[in-house]
This record gives sequence, C-alpha cells and structure tokens, in this order.
Amino acid sequence: MPTVTAYATPAAKAPFERTTIERREVGPKDVRIKVAFCGICHSDIHTGRGEWGETNYPLVPGHEIAGVVEEVGSDVSKFKVGEHAGVGCMVSSCGHCEQCTNGEEQFCTDGGMVGTYGGELDGKPTDGGYSAEIVVDENYVLHIPDGISLDEAAPLLCAGITLYSPLNHFGAGPGKNVAIVGMGGLGHMGVKIAHAMGAEVTVLSQTTAKEEDGKKFGADHYYATKDGDTFKKLRGSFDLIVNTVSAQLPMQRYLSLLKPRGAMVNVGAPSEPMEVPAFALIGGGKTWAGSQIGGIKETQEMLDFCAEHNIGATIETIRPDKIDEAWDRVVDSDVRYRFVIDTSTFDD
Ligand code: NAP
Ligand code: ZN
Repeated sequence: MPTVTAYATPAAKAPFERTTIERREVGPKDVRIKVAFCGICHSDIHTGRGEWGETNYPLVPGHEIAGVVEEVGSDVSKFKVGEHAGVGCMVSSCGHCEQCTNGEEQFCTDGGMVGTYGGELDGKPTDGGYSAEIVVDENYVLHIPDGISLDEAAPLLCAGITLYSPLNHFGAGPGKNVAIVGMGGLGHMGVKIAHAMGAEVTVLSQTTAKEEDGKKFGADHYYATKDGDTFKKLRGSFDLIVNTVSAQLPMQRYLSLLKPRGAMVNVGAPSEPMEVPAFALIGGGKTWAGSQIGGIKETQEMLDFCAEHNIGATIETIRPDKIDEAWDRVVDSDVRYRFVIDTSTFDD
C-alpha cells in the first residue's frame, strides 16, 4: 500500500504530529488526488477534541479538500489526470437507497454515509485531508471550476455546501429577509451565498467587530447579539435564519426574530442540547429545522454557482505546524474566516 505524509492528533487535546498513513491502491472507479489545500472546519475540532462522543485516535481530520487529479482508475469516466478536484465530508454511501438515489447521500439509510475521516470503509478507518494525497471513488469527488483558486475553493466543500443547501431549500432569494447567526467559517460563506441569491442579508454576530468585513461579503445589515436592543429592534423581521454557531444559544430569543411562518435552520452542532419552549414555535407557526451538508449533486451545483458569482472563501493559509494554534483561534472565534492548510509545505 502506498504511504503518504499526514498530520494526526494522537488523543483528545493532544498536539498534532507528523505521521504517515496508508492510502489504498487506485481501484477501477477510484481517483487519486494530490491534496493542495485542506480547510479547518469546526467539526474537525469537535471530533478531534472528543466533544461529539467517542473518537478513534490517531485522527487525521479534514473534509474540505481541494487538489489535483494525479491518477484515475480504468473505469473512471468523470475525471482526467491534471484536473482540479475536491472532496467534502463523505467518501462513500450505499448508492442505492432512496436517499442516495435522490442525490442526498448524506442521509443514506443503508449503512449511512461514510465520513471522509473517522468513518470506516472496507474494514479500515478513513483518514481525512490533513494529508498529502487521498484516493476516493469518483462518485464522491467534485469538479472544482477553473474560476476558483484551489485555496479559496477548499472551504466550499463543507462550509459552502452547508450554507448553500438550507438557503436553497428554504427559498433565500429576492424579497426574502435572511439572517445568518455567527460569522465564522460557515457564516461568512452564508453571507456571500445568500447575497448572491438575491436575499436581503443580516449578520447577527456577537459584536460589531467584523461589521466592515460582513458588509464587504454582501451583508446589508449587521447587528451585535451582545446588545440586548438588537432583539427588540429585529423582532419579527426574518423569513429565514440560519444558525451557524458552534455553541448553545438561547433559541427562544432567536426564534422571536422570525416573521410568522418563518424558519430557523440549525447547522451549528454544539454538543449540548438546545431547549425550545413549544410556544416559541406555535405562536407564528414557525419552523425549526436542521440541515446537514448537502448531497454530491447539490455540492457540484454550489461549486458552479460560486464560480459563476465569483465566490470563494476568505482564508488564512497556514503551514501544518500551526494547526494547533489555528484550532485554538477557531474556538476563540478569532478566525478570518477559514484556516486552510497548505499541504505543499508538508515536506519542507
Ligand atoms: P466557526 O468558524 O468557529 O464559526 C462559528 C461562529 O459562531 C463563530 O465565528 C462566532 O461568530 C459564533 N460563536 C462561537 N461561539 C459563540 C458563542 N458562545 N455564542 C455566540 N456565538 C458564538 O465554526 P464553523 O466551522 O463555521 O462551524 C460552525 C458549527 O457548524 C460547528 O458546530 C460545526 O461543527 C457545525 N457544522 C455543521 C455542519 C452541518 O452539516 N450541519 C457542517 C459543518 C460544520 P461571531 O464571532 O460572528 O459571533
Ligand atoms: Zn465541516
């Protein structure tokens, strides 16, 4: 089996270590990708620090992968050597259940989707994109359009699709008032995408420190949630709120910001449960929903949409020796707006 350089966390809260991992031989339907950049998602941190339950270590995280196709299997029809390609949060699913057939592989009901890391495929644990190369079935690989550079494209593979999908399904567009709660990795993509869809966009951030950036990303309005007046002023304002916050929020206060029949979609995934009094939903007939990444077809649609609208992530590129520091900065909400690991520096 070929081995490649990777960065792994050996235990919860232990610093990253340089290591080597095995990648499978390229099978008939496989694409071997030389990883150029991998984004750091807050989900990597929840998993790596054991916040979502049991994690198997050593863990090589990373599900925002952008790179170049190095080799294709004999039966591969969708990719050619030299093309730009991406891999997101999943590398396999059953492929034949109702959800997979509908292009919603993330909801696979026959065994579930196989996560890019921390999953299990053919009896072996999967390793993510904090690595030099990855081998993936072509059905779970995305085309990265020429208009987006690989570093700015990497975060689209999770942060981009996680916001595009609920904005798309809940009808963000002209005439709709959309709020994005939290302007980190996911949130800043939400602002850019909702604006490109034609919605009127409001950011609800803890403070106004990032207001100038938010407006550049396309926000029409920007409010601090630490300012109690915000909740009075914006009561009943939004058709749609997408909550990207990685920590627990007082949901009742946020639900009060919806118009009647409005919807709040949760994509943030804190480990603690969130409480919602029934009357916060009943009054006004409100919807409280969740959303998980998006299927492969929709992810490709999102990449094409971003290319068409000139949207990439706003990133800070780091070398692998800065992963621990970057994780701490993400947890402190000190990320502008996605860290991306440059894997070309792995062998320096
Ligand atoms: P991130 O970059 O850390 O952004 C989260 C933002 O939430 C922060 O930048 C901050 O924004 C706000 N925030 C953090 N702590 C807060 C607190 N205590 N109170 C209020 N606001 C707070 O993280 P991310 O990578 O965007 O991920 C966000 C969450 O989505 C994570 O839980 C992640 O696991 C989850 N996720 C879910 C999916 C899915 O499919 N549903 C996919 C990917 C990630 P401000 O500074 O603007 O306040
Ligand atoms: Zn993610």
